[in-house]
Amino acid sequence: MFTKLLIANRGEISCRIIKTAKRMGILTVALYSDADQQALHVKMADEAVHVGPSPSKDSYLQAEKIIQIALKVGANAIHPGYGFLSENATFANLCEQNNIVFVGPPVSAIQAMGSKSAAKNIMEQAKVPLVPGYHGDDQSTDGLKSHADKMGYPVLLKAAAGGGGKGMRQVWKATEFNDALAAAKREAMSSFNDDLMLVEKYLTAPRHVEIQIFCDNFGNGVYLFERDCSVQRRHQKIIEEAPAFGMTETLRAQMGEAALKAAKAINYAGAGTVEFLLDSDGQFYFMEMNTRLQVEHPVTEMITGQDLVEWQLRVANNEPLPLAQDALSIHGHAFEARIYAEDPNNEFLPATGRLSLLQPPIESEYVRVDTGVVQGDEVSVFYDPMIAKLIVWDENRDKALARLTKALTEYHIDGVVTNIEFLYKLTSSGPFKAEQIDTGFIEKNQDVLLLNDEQDVKPLLPVAALYLMLSNQQNHATSIPDRFSPWSLSNAWRANEQHLQNLELLVGDNTFAVQVSQTGAGSQIIYDIKVAQQDYRCSGEIENNQLISTINGHRTLANVTAHQDGYSVFCDGKVIRFKSLQADLGETQDNAADTGFIAPMNGTVVAILVEPQQLVEKGQTLMVMEAMKMEHSLTAPAAGCVSEFYFKAGDLVDGGVELLAFQATQECSKNAT
Ligand code: ADP
Repeated sequence: MFTKLLIANRGEISCRIIKTAKRMGILTVALYSDADQQALHVKMADEAVHVGPSPSKDSYLQAEKIIQIALKVGANAIHPGYGFLSENATFANLCEQNNIVFVGPPVSAIQAMGSKSAAKNIMEQAKVPLVPGYHGDDQSTDGLKSHADKMGYPVLLKAAAGGGGKGMRQVWKATEFNDALAAAKREAMSSFNDDLMLVEKYLTAPRHVEIQIFCDNFGNGVYLFERDCSVQRRHQKIIEEAPAFGMTETLRAQMGEAALKAAKAINYAGAGTVEFLLDSDGQFYFMEMNTRLQVEHPVTEMITGQDLVEWQLRVANNEPLPLAQDALSIHGHAFEARIYAEDPNNEFLPATGRLSLLQPPIESEYVRVDTGVVQGDEVSVFYDPMIAKLIVWDENRDKALARLTKALTEYHIDGVVTNIEFLYKLTSSGPFKAEQIDTGFIEKNQDVLLLNDEQDVKPLLPVAALYLMLSNQQNHATSIPDRFSPWSLSNAWRANEQHLQNLELLVGDNTFAVQVSQTGAGSQIIYDIKVAQQDYRCSGEIENNQLISTINGHRTLANVTAHQDGYSVFCDGKVIRFKSLQADLGETQDNAADTGFIAPMNGTVVAILVEPQQLVEKGQTLMVMEAMKMEHSLTAPAAGCVSEFYFKAGDLVDGGVELLAFQATQECSKNAT
């Protein structure tokens, strides 16, 4: 086995490969660009070498330079991951010339599948069923159009060199053809420097089902079953699952055999994926073959119990495949959801920013998180905006799906717009549960899937308001912000009488007026909250950034973070990000300062720092107490005065007793006159 592996990639896939290499006792070398100096993959590797400036073309795509680095550090193999140089025949060739093992297929196989047109020619000869279409040399507009006309619309124009959904255009009628072709060619030229096009019959509601294959250098080949990757936006996958629902053993074997036939046709070795479109009538058509490890390989790992990176390294090391076909089987069901920094409500536009909060769900035998970032990292403009892959497994689809939706509710990110809430809505939607899925899923279900204020924001308004009320109360309980202190408990202080407050919440561009009336005492405080023409009866408490709220008799748990832009409340797969427009809740209406002060537990009065009736500023310390060997200052919730202290310095007080009476300024002046 190789002693040192260089990983010519970054981010989550570098981290993923490093984990397996470590387990196998192989030393790892990471690369980093300027932007990635502090990246997780750099910290995880045994060595890391600077490869260039931040843009990919100056760093992770610098084939020659990477080879030089590999030679310098004495790496005897290079794993290219996915993307970047993973399907670059020139790079694979350079590795070979320099006696470095390229962890991937032979150069000839990469070349054969490098062009979608050439690949289709090879598959046609190998008698693998193809999506009907034209993939020949006549690239004239009239020539291509006549093929489209013959095939009948709609058709799909595709760049032969394409990838990532670029250079692709649907054409619905003949009159749109020329413009669509020109646009697709322009895009292909700017993305791939190659505008060779092919025309395919556009299947209107197919599924994307792909087969994971593996071949070794001894003529053995197996398929590790299928993945359904139909849920896509912009022709790019965001949710994958394995096995594909509704698959029969016969169809699985047919597709598996067809995929192996494709691999054999090009003398394949290593990990590969043969992508098919599957029609509702069970017909499947070859689309393309990816000659590398796929982003979504973890779902296959979860259902087969195999480590595909280990398989890759073994095959690259000239070992036979670890298992034969009959030793492979499917166990349970797995999903992968790609967590992206992107805005589903703005055409999935990539987003950038600093991950000020990054709280993934806890990993277990059911939940796996593959990521390359940690809290505080930047999602930059330079690379793919994928933050992580959330992978779940369970015995069957329903159970795995329940794991997925739950894990999504536990994934909390701030600082960057993400698709988490969108993924939650998608995976908990009726059609997704009911397997009514094809590649048009997102478009068809847009109404249900896109975030909408009525459904997604408004139900969280009372939670947001309740949080402000409770945290305000906590802040007033002590001037020492110590959340473990008994004096910080939300029930430490109570209103003597009913008490009205007005708040304003800024959510996005909308301002919501909130009216709160507060009754009861201690942990029994009830907040009647009126917001967006709805009344809610609320109570709750805050503990370690968790808000336990009961709203109209429904108790739920929310996670809350406070940050420079305001607050985020994560609850039931939804999130509300808001600001309170009211600087301080203590300065509220006339009777706001009528708040009583209740001792939450036994303690001693250490000092009284103001005179009764003396006018004090908001925040001024009134009394100091000691409990559990710690001192706690009690401060004025607003400008005003203490009308009466019920204890003096040195007194022991019991939990639950009232300590002093406080009045707002107006009341104090009345007393004075
Ligand atoms: P890329 O290499 O750019 O990712 P693919 O050829 O893999 O492009 O296609 C990406 C997606 O586009 C497929 O998963 C499928 O959803 C859709 N697609 C591709 N070809 C067709 C077709 N002929 N009819 C309908 N949808 C298609």
